[in-house]
Amino acid sequence: DNVKSQNLNEVINKVLPMLQADAYNNNKEVVVDLNNLPNIMINENEIKQLILNLVRNGLEATAENGCVRISTHVKEDKVVLEIKDQGMGIPQAIQEKIGTPFFTTKESGTGLGLLISIGIAQRHRASFDFKTGSEGTTFYTAFPAKPA
Ligand code: ADP
Ligand code: MG
Repeated sequence: DNVKSQNLNEVINKVLPMLQADAYNNNKEVVVDLNNLPNIMINENEIKQLILNLVRNGLEATAENGCVRISTHVKEDKVVLEIKDQGMGIPQAIQEKIGTPFFTTKESGTGLGLLISIGIAQRHRASFDFKTGSEGTTFYTAFPAKPA
């Protein structure tokens, strides 16, 4: 298949210009804090898709002049990807519907982005979860740093 040993930071750097242009066009910003990582097994197209889905959701939730932060670090035996926005958080009733196909609160949303991202995380044996509150939402995807 299309899975190879690769650095997550490199994949982020490949999609970053497009995301920064998206953000800039909406008077927002995408910033990164990428730390040294070991290579992990990555399907590059899928991980690009996951990053796009989460950063776009974050930008859509964030008001003008705000930013979305993409950061990476190693924690124990995991490579952790964090995508943090400055939105108003995800209301409880909506949190319960996360990953339900076609559930969207947006005029022209598909309601598929999170479902697709969960599937991508699962195929990478990564955990996928989030913390949300009035200061914003952070999505955490934690990949096994060593082959299973
Ligand atoms: P879509 O973006 O097309 O609506 P998603 O699956 O990406 O579909 O997201 C589903 C819903 O979850 C969104 O419509 C929104 O209500 C909520 N959501 C997702 N990400 C965020 C976020 N970062 N902040 C606030 N709400 C979010
Ligand atoms: Mg979305």
